[in-house]
Amino acid sequence: MRILVTGGAGFIGSHLCDRLVKEGHYVICLDNLYSGSKDNIIHLQKYSNFEFIRHDITQPILLEVDMIFNLACPASPIHYQNNPVKTIKTNVIGMLNMLGLAKRVKARILQASTSEVYGDPLVHPQREDYWGNVNPIGLRACYDEGKRCAEALCFSYHKQNNVDIRVVRIFNTYGPNMLPNDGRVISNFIIQALNNKPITVYGKGEQTRSFCYIDDLIEGLIRYMFLENSSKNVDLSGPINLGNPNEFKIIDLAKLVLKLTRSNSKITYKKLPPDDPSRRCPDISLAKRLFGFSPKTDLRTGLEKTIEYFRKIYNRSAN
Ligand code: UDP
Repeated sequence: MRILVTGGAGFIGSHLCDRLVKEGHYVICLDNLYSGSKDNIIHLQKYSNFEFIRHDITQPILLEVDMIFNLACPASPIHYQNNPVKTIKTNVIGMLNMLGLAKRVKARILQASTSEVYGDPLVHPQREDYWGNVNPIGLRACYDEGKRCAEALCFSYHKQNNVDIRVVRIFNTYGPNMLPNDGRVISNFIIQALNNKPITVYGKGEQTRSFCYIDDLIEGLIRYMFLENSSKNVDLSGPINLGNPNEFKIIDLAKLVLKLTRSNSKITYKKLPPDDPSRRCPDISLAKRLFGFSPKTDLRTGLEKTIEYFRKIYNRSAN
């Protein structure tokens, strides 16, 4: 297959390119390198079935491909709030460009949507049929509403033009290749702990998240994208939740990181950012039923691997 991965040099995109290249597909990785990094894909440049194009999806592009994974968009609050207008453009204009491409070359397209479409959820855990509770003018709106509009575009192209869509709602994911400076809770806590700096818990740390290790997420993305429709009665368009349903309080995550890093850091409490969702946990029964999705990596094991990664990049930059 010829497969386009937009945002392919980012955290999730780079792991996806890795797996697809190793499975023998011809992979075109497209990224504007705003929050993606060449370091994440440099090891793939030696493969003849891998190609990198520096391009911003807000500009049209024509490529002959069979499948498109649309992952392009900064995903951490720091990065997507830095230029909110650009975030909306990436989600809306970028999505239009990618759906136009899919329509033209008859490619299947997977949209990386997000648990943020549920906002600060009033239903728990979140099932795909929950419509969400999003502040349309808040700090997170550029991302949340951008992703909601992108979903609406996918379903409109599907209904109107029969484009083969797969919409997946990704919950908090972590692992190697996360950016050290993007302010996500797991990278922040690990880096603070490794440097014996205070661990910054926002609010009282009572808010929850459910953390999925990157390898489990990639397995889910690939199973879903390659799933063929065996019955005309089943619509595989989605949306489908992907994530790990084990829910943790942020304060407990801080304590676990301290333990695993054997750090001397102390916990310090900071102001909770506006519109920070208080609970988040995916109901993944649909993904389980359709393609046997079942995350294997528990938080402790995943954190150990991620700590190892951050230790390595720090040792490398220190030497
Ligand atoms: N958080 C925290 N300390 C940090 C960074 C984040 O307590 O240094 C909290 C944040 O307020 C949120 C949770 O951890 O409740 C997850 O934050 P992240 O930015 O990783 O993801 P998102 O809020 O988009 O789920």
